[in-house]
Amino acid sequence: MPEKPFEGRFYYIETFGCQQNERDSEIIAGILEDLGFLPSDVFSADIIIFNTCAVRETAEEKIKGKIGALKALKYKNKDLVIGIGGCMTAVEETAEEIYKTFPFVSFVFGTGALEKLPRLIKDAFNGRRTPLGDESGEIPEELPSVRRDPYRADVSVMYGCDNFCTYCIVPYTRGRERSRLPDEILKEVSAAVKGGAKEITLLGQNVNSYGKGLPEKTSFPELLSSVASLEGDFRVRFMTSHPKDASDALFEAMAANPKICKHLHLPVQSGSDRVLKAMNRRYTAAHYISLIKKARALIPDLVVTSDIIVGFPGETEEDFEETLDLLREIRFDSLFTFIYSVRRGTRAATMEGKIDEKTAHARFDRLVALQNAVSRAENEALVGKTLRLLVTGKSETDPAVLAARSEGNRLCHLKADLSLIGKFVNAEIISAKTWSLEASVRP
Ligand code: SF4
Repeated sequence: MPEKPFEGRFYYIETFGCQQNERDSEIIAGILEDLGFLPSDVFSADIIIFNTCAVRETAEEKIKGKIGALKALKYKNKDLVIGIGGCMTAVEETAEEIYKTFPFVSFVFGTGALEKLPRLIKDAFNGRRTPLGDESGEIPEELPSVRRDPYRADVSVMYGCDNFCTYCIVPYTRGRERSRLPDEILKEVSAAVKGGAKEITLLGQNVNSYGKGLPEKTSFPELLSSVASLEGDFRVRFMTSHPKDASDALFEAMAANPKICKHLHLPVQSGSDRVLKAMNRRYTAAHYISLIKKARALIPDLVVTSDIIVGFPGETEEDFEETLDLLREIRFDSLFTFIYSVRRGTRAATMEGKIDEKTAHARFDRLVALQNAVSRAENEALVGKTLRLLVTGKSETDPAVLAARSEGNRLCHLKADLSLIGKFVNAEIISAKTWSLEASVRP
């Protein structure tokens, strides 16, 4: 077999869902390029891979629609290979359904089968449709990857989740928690920094429980500190954290090391203890508030962001008011807000007390209105201050200005020379909007 058996052929990958999927797609691209494929658009591709997301059923339906639309391309090009991977195909019934409904799909692979991709691809080009369930769940070390952003690198520190929040499909799609060896992580971060990355994001579904099952016990704060003590001009952030595992040691590490971004994304999901219990989150609103107070006491200017789900089964008006109270007390810098949506295969899907759409939307609107006012006020308070920003590229909305991110991951726009892309700059905030800041580079 030649070293690059598919030289001269083209690939197209479409990624749905979270940052973990984006990172997996970088590895998939690396595997394809190692085999000789080059990137192209969907119409010129010899192989199309969809890396799917299973978090929401509505998103899953849309992805199925997009898979269905590939039939026309397959009709025009009988040799086209189509692979469907990611969280959807990690659920056995969905993988089976995709195989049955879309017979033109050449192969499916779950999140634990990345290292098997070269064989699956070769089999598919030889006309063999691989049987389902060929997963190892092993940690994909030593796999190539093509990073999509030259200045910001995602580095997975662990895979899977053991928490079984009742609304979440992740423990079923990504399996139980497996942590990578610290040395492998440090090697990958060093290589990314040497390759020009200025910002490293350590990724995991619940990074705070990193280290379970490692031959030598290492906690996440220890890992974070080791990463931050590597040589080079870079900063490091992490996501996602779980409040039940966030520790004083984490906040102390963040406070002690200037390379660790002073940004804590800590999903709270609800301000009602009753709802938190039904979600199986295993902390109370009071515990969450005490964590944030501790973190803020140790880390001045800490940026705190979170996730909230409204309309969880059984959520009463009183429960929802408790969520608004928590928002008023914490004053998050920004929030990811979601309306609960049923996800087959999770415990919440069979819970009583579904919230009707009208009520859920009305609560969502109230939540967003409150948060917008807080975000705007917090941003306005930054006017006149100087922040260290990483210039990430041209603004997506106005190519005449550059986009940059603060340590707290706030989006900033600035008029500056293109040569600053990929560099840290000190910039004064000159005006504020709800979702972004305008900044001016200081000499
Ligand atoms: S912590 Fe909960 S919400 Fe997050 S991935 Fe694990 S089960 Fe899902």
